[in-house]
Amino acid sequence: MSTVKRFDALVVGAGVGGLYALYRLRDKLGLNVQVLEAGGGVGGTWYWNRYPGCRCDVESLEYSFGFDPELEQEWSWPERYGNQPEILQYVNHVADRFDLRKNIQFETRVNHATYERKTNLWTLRTESGGTFTAPVCVMATGNLSVPRVPDFRGLEDFEGETYHTGLWPHEGVDFNGKRVAVIGTGSSGVQTIPIIAGQAETLTVFQRTANYILPAVNGPMNREVEAQHKATYREHRKAAYETPFGISGYPPPTKSALEATPEERNALYEQKWQDGGQISFLYAYTDILTNDDANKTVREFVHGKIRSIVKDPNLAETLCPNDHPIGTKRLVLDTGYYETYNKQHVHLVNARKAPIEALTPNGIRTTEAEYAFDAIVFATGFDAMTGALKEIDIRATDGRSLTQDWEAGPYTMLGIMCAGFPNMFMITGPGSPGVKSQMILSCEQHVDWIVDCLAYMRENNQAAIEPTDKAQHDWTMHVKDVADATLYPMAASWYMGANIPGKPRVFMPYVGGVKRYKAKCEDVAAKGYEGFTFAAADKQELAMTGDD
Ligand code: NAP
Repeated sequence: MSTVKRFDALVVGAGVGGLYALYRLRDKLGLNVQVLEAGGGVGGTWYWNRYPGCRCDVESLEYSFGFDPELEQEWSWPERYGNQPEILQYVNHVADRFDLRKNIQFETRVNHATYERKTNLWTLRTESGGTFTAPVCVMATGNLSVPRVPDFRGLEDFEGETYHTGLWPHEGVDFNGKRVAVIGTGSSGVQTIPIIAGQAETLTVFQRTANYILPAVNGPMNREVEAQHKATYREHRKAAYETPFGISGYPPPTKSALEATPEERNALYEQKWQDGGQISFLYAYTDILTNDDANKTVREFVHGKIRSIVKDPNLAETLCPNDHPIGTKRLVLDTGYYETYNKQHVHLVNARKAPIEALTPNGIRTTEAEYAFDAIVFATGFDAMTGALKEIDIRATDGRSLTQDWEAGPYTMLGIMCAGFPNMFMITGPGSPGVKSQMILSCEQHVDWIVDCLAYMRENNQAAIEPTDKAQHDWTMHVKDVADATLYPMAASWYMGANIPGKPRVFMPYVGGVKRYKAKCEDVAAKGYEGFTFAAADKQELAMTGDD
């Protein structure tokens, strides 16, 4: 019979959010914490997504932890945007520097989580039969951590190699001399296509929806820029919290795109194209994400760029996005993506016009043709935002199930907690700005809020907290209202659950911006956790120690 291991707090996931939760719960609150991680190492997204070309689309000086000034100063990023091996190395460095590994159990996938009201304990059961309990459970399970391969007919029949970008083999893949297919042209596909094209004998890309893709303009880190940034890191971090996306260094726009002349607009867009990055474009004018006519001016500019880079005019038209406003699907940053299509051995299949019907023993059959391949890469995305939480059977002993509660879409208070599931905290859950922000900053902000909340409970002799159904309903409606005032819901994006057949079409992230969101979180706390109810510590103390 397996023993039950007892802790003060359990954290599921050792990505950046889980690691920071462990650090703060352990070192600030003095709790006995256990992290349970499915992978064989730390890093979350950066542990699993090892496909060639994988890189962050937020600049490395911003995309890093902000909680420790010494850490900021001692780490040096080699390039403007960190690539996957560098970021993973950085996360490993953080784990070592703060001695975090000793509280993490790797290769441990949690598949059940049950809350018992009588004892005020969460019990987590793992795939390998382990049982862990604690009064506090933090789900740091990630937003893009459940890779998804579409349910193609004949999936099992294909006799060649298959890979998903989100589950890439650690030993790497050699595509030399192979006929390779890539299905999907989101961030993962766009990053990996130019690299695979450099190896494969032939590369055929299956594109269902053309995306807006902007140049990253990556390169070696400018050491002067780095030195300046490091000299003012505290100001940068503080300023980042005052922005919509949690990224500093971009002055907020003051003017509508429609107030500028076409010449002025094109000059500004050209400058932003040359500078690289996505925030820069979204910040060009005030109304790019709220007014379709304003948005159209950027779309037309980008279409012009695609036509000027891609030599075959028919191919260029297929690559021009035409079914959603720019920025309403995650903008993609590239290095040499459009140029790849000028190579003789690279082909594009319009999977909108001729959808994939099936995989065959030799390759892929669309409604128009059959193609033979040695390897197929699925760059087909994730069951985003709710997938990882729904994969764990989360229940309260009164029978309430999170999956059932979320049948029509996720309901949360601030993307941090759910009614009916006391002491279960989510890091950057649905209803928070997480995926629409610099993720590490949002993870830190959530963890800090959770830690302050637990400290408040300890001071006030409270053992359990949960949001009221009303507060949760009001917040979820607010998230919807804010999204409805923008162009975001016009795109069939993973933000809307639109990439998963049968998933409810609900816009999941909070797009009111980091600044407004953080102010709301602080206001809730300042009002004694308005919208939440507490249960007194008559049965359990929060700061228990010892296992078994
Ligand atoms: P994604 O954006 O969801 O893209 C999936 C792609 O697969 C889409 O082009 C989709 O087409 C296509 N697809 C899905 N099912 C298909 C089918 N049955 N037939 C043909 N095509 C199909 O996934 P992702 O590229 O992995 O990116 C997900 C998110 O991860 C990004 O948006 C970003 O937030 C994050 N990410 C970030 C970075 C970075 O920092 N640079 C890198 C990678 C990922 P449709 O559009 O038509 O559905």
